[in-house]
Amino acid sequence: MTIFERRESNVRSYCRAFPAVFVKGKDAFLFDDQGKRYIDFFSGAGALNYGHNPARMKAALVDYVQADGIVHGLDMATVAKQRFLERFESVVLKPRGLDHKVQFCGPTGTNAIEAALKLARRVKQRSNVVAFTNAYHGLTSGALSVTGSAQYRNEAFVNRQDVSFMPYDGYLGAGVNTVDYLAKCIEDESSGLDLPAAVVLETVQAEGGVNVAGDSWLRDLGALCARHDILLIVDDIQVGCGRTGPFFSFERAGITPDMVTLSKSISGFGLPMALVLIRPEFDQWRPGEHTGTFRGNNLAFVTGTEALHDWETPAFSASVVRKGERLAQRLEEIADAYPKLGARVRGLGLIYGLDIANPGISGAVAREAFRQGLVIEQCGEDGRVLKFLPPLTIDDEVIEEGLDVVDRSIREISRQ
Ligand code: PLP
Repeated sequence: MTIFERRESNVRSYCRAFPAVFVKGKDAFLFDDQGKRYIDFFSGAGALNYGHNPARMKAALVDYVQADGIVHGLDMATVAKQRFLERFESVVLKPRGLDHKVQFCGPTGTNAIEAALKLARRVKQRSNVVAFTNAYHGLTSGALSVTGSAQYRNEAFVNRQDVSFMPYDGYLGAGVNTVDYLAKCIEDESSGLDLPAAVVLETVQAEGGVNVAGDSWLRDLGALCARHDILLIVDDIQVGCGRTGPFFSFERAGITPDMVTLSKSISGFGLPMALVLIRPEFDQWRPGEHTGTFRGNNLAFVTGTEALHDWETPAFSASVVRKGERLAQRLEEIADAYPKLGARVRGLGLIYGLDIANPGISGAVAREAFRQGLVIEQCGEDGRVLKFLPPLTIDDEVIEEGLDVVDRSIREISRQ
């Protein structure tokens, strides 16, 4: 029995799906203690958009630590935070005309969701929040209350009132605009829906099965929120930081959320950092009202500042779009090559899903792919969707190599 089985809680998960002991990561590759190399199509669930140990960020981090830079400082002002905020303002916010304030939260994505929901309810003095079917926003109580998946909701026997779930884009089939249903419920005083303080959504539901909301659906939702004085919160924790092409996933629809949550790849290096962007008029916190010990990971500020270099020109975003097109094309070819699977391809930028209706198949393919040296996760209902989430910096030939593994794995599973 390994030390992990002997001592680590039963709750451990990814180490079950990927049974190896990893020692090293570089760019799009992981290496285990047997010297086996794996291609990473998982990217730390979106925390490693720039790959493992990117050289420039690593050098900046090592220099900072060598110079005894501040590591922990609660939310005190530090040079590392100053540089991060200045770069974030000049590279991300200003060019997009965003005057949002930045709230640093506890270290992980779910902390940002908690903060956003708390602030929205406080600002609007309303308790209800609208979330969407298949949403995933994290697993602390407040974030769990706006998460749809039964697998997670069943785990917490606590009160999860004050949230109304509405059908996401496509949930009722193509051709039904589910924003119309939400509008009807909001506008009909007897619908039973309490006017929400906020609507919280992912523009691409990642954990929920790679469901992509349409641009016009997002615009309709934005307009509905504006019409009824409801805050629009976009959770860009997994699909922000360039995952869909542009820095923010909502840019494609031309909407401006009242709040945006970011985490995962905002530090660029896989270090914990989470934040909420808040329109200035809604930044109504009293000083220290929402606090916490780890709200300023200075190491993450250092690497996050470096990561933003990639966003100084449009080239990085364009490369994500180009690689994504190739990924989509290959996935369509793979789906066509195995018609009996009835697989469907969905995605945008460098997040794609291969939806294989038979739940057993995706799991078997993921396991076989791991055996052949590829790390790939499952998502969606019953884990039936293979989720392709390579680092955005991955080389073209490594994408091809990873897709060859998927192709061979499907062939092997189909043959069995
Ligand atoms: N929101 C979204 C969209 C996510 O994908 C996740 C994590 O996968 C979270 C929130 C929660 O983030 P964390 O796991 O860092 O708490």
